[in-house]
Amino acid sequence: IEQAAFQNDKLAMLGKIAAAIAHEIRNPLTSIRGFIQLLNPYLNEIGKQEYGRIILSEIDRANDIIYEFLNSSKPTAPMKQKILVGLLLKETILLSESEALMKGIEIHHEIFDPFLTVAIDAKQIKQVLLNMIKNAMDAIADTDDNRKGSIGIISRKEGKYALISIKDNGKGMMRSTLNRLFDPFFTTKEEGTGLGLSVSYRIISNHGGTIHVDSQHNEGTEFLIYLPCVEGKE
Ligand code: ADP
Repeated sequence: IEQAAFQNDKLAMLGKIAAAIAHEIRNPLTSIRGFIQLLNPYLNEIGKQEYGRIILSEIDRANDIIYEFLNSSKPTAPMKQKILVGLLLKETILLSESEALMKGIEIHHEIFDPFLTVAIDAKQIKQVLLNMIKNAMDAIADTDDNRKGSIGIISRKEGKYALISIKDNGKGMMRSTLNRLFDPFFTTKEEGTGLGLSVSYRIISNHGGTIHVDSQHNEGTEFLIYLPCVEGKE
């Protein structure tokens, strides 16, 4: 009976994902279709170029959605290795630094426990962290006052867990966004796929961890990632 229930769950989940993909792909297809219809012989060169550009970017968008989906649905048994949380964060921040610099955003990094260690698939967890830093930068770019963008990243031990906090002073979220944050394909961005956080959530769960969010509209957002830590004797 359990097996059957599991199969049903899986089918229901697949159905939901298929419906979401169909919905997502339909948007770029509709606009590609529309712009091709507008490409009539009487259109001037500038118009043709402009419509051509939109068509290409919509094709790329459909492609991104499929690519990210395939990527995120690969079997994801984590390849776990021990790593110092401080080192993991340092390496990740390095990858984000040039983009932050260009956008005038400061990234602060503070390590409270230099020996804090986790057993993780570093590639997967880096993907999660990079995605959150990217989201933080987007949220900062989306503010319209002249605040100085800043992202604070700290790590410390909390009971059996290593806590990694990523906090930005970006535009924050409204409750309606908070409620749907981790849904596949939920996005408030024109160019977003809405897959980043749903994939992140799954990666962290696969590691036996959890994600919490704290956000104030117009003030900023904090993501709290808890990963089981490796205790001294292990
Ligand atoms: P995407 O970035 O493609 O939209 P995500 O799943 O990563 O997909 O994020 C979903 C939505 O969550 C975003 O569109 C945005 O509205 C919201 N969000 C995520 N991170 C932040 C943040 N740091 N500040 C404000 N909103 C955020």
